[in-house]
Amino acid sequence: MLNFDYLKPASLAEALALRQAGARALFVAGGTDVIPLIKKKVISPDVLISLRGISELKGLYEASEQVVVGSGVTLRELEKSPLVGRFFPALRDAVIDMASVQIRNVATLGGNIVNASPGADSAAPLLIYAAEVAIVRADGRERRLPLDDFFLGPKRVALEEDELVRALVLPKPRPGCGSAYAKFMKRKAMDLANVGVGVSLCLDDGGVCRGARIGLATVAPTPLRARRVEEFLRGRVPDDDVLREASLLAAGEISPIDDLRGRAWHKTEVVKSYLPRVAKIARQRALSD
Ligand SMILES: Cc1cc2nc3c(=O)[nH]c(=O)nc-3n(C[C@H](O)[C@H](O)[C@H](O)COP(=O)(O)OP(=O)(O)OC[C@H]3O[C@@H](n4cnc5c(N)ncnc54)[C@H](O)[C@@H]3O)c2cc1C
Repeated sequence: MLNFDYLKPASLAEALALRQAGARALFVAGGTDVIPLIKKKVISPDVLISLRGISELKGLYEASEQVVVGSGVTLRELEKSPLVGRFFPALRDAVIDMASVQIRNVATLGGNIVNASPGADSAAPLLIYAAEVAIVRADGRERRLPLDDFFLGPKRVALEEDELVRALVLPKPRPGCGSAYAKFMKRKAMDLANVGVGVSLCLDDGGVCRGARIGLATVAPTPLRARRVEEFLRGRVPDDDVLREASLLAAGEISPIDDLRGRAWHKTEVVKSYLPRVAKIARQRALSD
């Protein structure tokens, strides 16, 4: 029988105080990662602290040059958000292919990144948008960390025990930028990413790349940026030949392993074929921006 207390704080401060009080207490947002792990007896917390009733974690709004997404915003809310559709199409590409509508109605963005699966679908889009993680401490102080520094390893993130993620902060892309995300799945219906590829390209009037960010999932212990590819694309026109060369470079930046999601060699081949495809969509979106 599953045996744990379930607490429902009404504020951030209350949630953090409860977390400090219990050594084997765990935050739960949508519960779509936590509950299956409890059922499989992978984890056995004494206390679950629900974040669902906390309004400070819920907003999705523009703040000057940034968009702030509360960690408790659900995947379904992201999918339907006009702000996400307008400024962050790669994030929208990612969430519409995640799980089922029923799961997306409760699963949150915060849960997806704190769960820190190497294949977390929101990670590559958030990396290409240079997202920062707004982290709040039990004493009320807040710190910001680039998402690049947040993932430490599979299921490991740079959060202290007395901290939680309040929001993700995304700078609005400049004009002339386009982005896209796609994942390769073994099945057509609801599946985890075998490989996820996110690309953001910023082009000048002549079509020359002035900035690129590449995010990859499921090809290393953490979601990662392909920085050598980003460097290679800068100053070049991302035509088909350049993108083919870029995809070969990307293959040298990853360290996939054989696992349930696929064989390492196959993931490398998927990166090589998906990167140009996704980059072409990003290029098209940049040109029509
Ligand atoms: C059937 C099914 C299909 C799925 N498909 C996909 C998929 O296609 N792609 C994908 O990436 N994932 C998928 N998932 C995994 C899961 O749905 C996502 O990772 C989801 O976004 C997790 O969010 P949650 O709110 O449910 O997290 P929870 O399960 O509530 O929490 C996950 C972890 O994050 C911590 N946490 C949550 N919020 C915070 C916070 N604000 N601050 C600090 N810690 C926090 C919790 O303590 C826990 O460790 C699937 C899951 C299921 C069951």
